[in-house]
Amino acid sequence: MSIYERIGVRPVINAATNLTRLGGSIMPTEVRQAMMEAADSYVNIVDMQRAVSARVAALTHNESAYVSSGAAAALTLVTAALITACDEARVRRLPLPDGPNYDVLIHKSQRNGYDRAVAQVGVNIVEFGLGCSKTEAWELEAAYTPRTLAVYYFTGALKEKYALPLGHVVKSAHARGIPVVVDAAAQLPPVENLWRYTRDLGADIAIFSGGKGLCGPQPTGLALGRKSIIDGIYVNASPAHGIGRPMKVGKEEMAGLLAAVERFVRLDHKAVMARYEAVVQSFLEGLAGIPGVTAFREFPNESGQMMPCAVVNLDESVLGMTRDAVVSALLSGEPSIAVGASHMGIYLNPQPLRDGEEGIVIERLKEVLRR
Ligand SMILES: *Cc1c(COP(=O)(O)O)cnc(C)c1O
Repeated sequence: MSIYERIGVRPVINAATNLTRLGGSIMPTEVRQAMMEAADSYVNIVDMQRAVSARVAALTHNESAYVSSGAAAALTLVTAALITACDEARVRRLPLPDGPNYDVLIHKSQRNGYDRAVAQVGVNIVEFGLGCSKTEAWELEAAYTPRTLAVYYFTGALKEKYALPLGHVVKSAHARGIPVVVDAAAQLPPVENLWRYTRDLGADIAIFSGGKGLCGPQPTGLALGRKSIIDGIYVNASPAHGIGRPMKVGKEEMAGLLAAVERFVRLDHKAVMARYEAVVQSFLEGLAGIPGVTAFREFPNESGQMMPCAVVNLDESVLGMTRDAVVSALLSGEPSIAVGASHMGIYLNPQPLRDGEEGIVIERLKEVLRR
């Protein structure tokens, strides 16, 4: 009997995306193995963090790295580190009280729920650009003040649509000695993104989730980049008593994430992408000819990641069923299947699916749509 059966929680087939609320991703065998091995001993946790980070930095062609308890935690820790560097007296002052503290500049079009992880340090989030049209270079220039701590940049095709190019932002900020932090939590693959934003485009830090495309432990994340900034994380993070003390990372998660990065940089990404394409194709073929249903391939996918997905538009009047009814029928059915809700229907993503699950998804979907 599985743990899920034993406690009465239904497992879900995930055709939506690598979502925290669905349990992140599925860890490959080598990741689980590494976690099991790490679990079998005590270790100096700071030594472990430094050793794992050094390996991750080398594998990703970065000066330095830090394993955090998720990308959101990395946003908090990096923000804290930018304020404190290695000064422990400053660490004690965080979070900063309300008032004219530091400003973190963010494109208005890139605001999202995760910038709470930045704001909780006590900095002001200052928007630039209109958010609904291309941002102009002068709008960034006009946003700098003596209080500017950093520019935060959220990558992905959708988030970058109205934004200045990252390379431009880096040049502009660096001309004033201001660092640029990139949140690329969900932007893997392509694997090159692990070094593209930092080594190639000059951003000071790039942040990734461990529990999304990397298929590492769900509660992990990575900050990659400049050593002088990452050194400042240690004084803020567990086991030190800074603002990051509650964002603890275990030796098992560190080992698991290292194994996930080792696997990911060695992976045959061409073959992975070919599998994604084949899965999307099987969705399109499986859904062909159902009245009220139009399915097509989209690339980049619905959330701007560089991989294909199947978008399934639903004509609710022909189907006699709303999109939400389709989504909830799939979720409450047997097996439970999660799909994404899109503007005119649903989308199906190959990335979170395990081999063979696409057939189950398509059969259930056909059953629901033909009802
Ligand atoms: C998922 C995500 C995060 C949070 O990542 P966790 O690893 O779950 O903490 C932060 N930023 C963006 C843009 C994300 O997509």
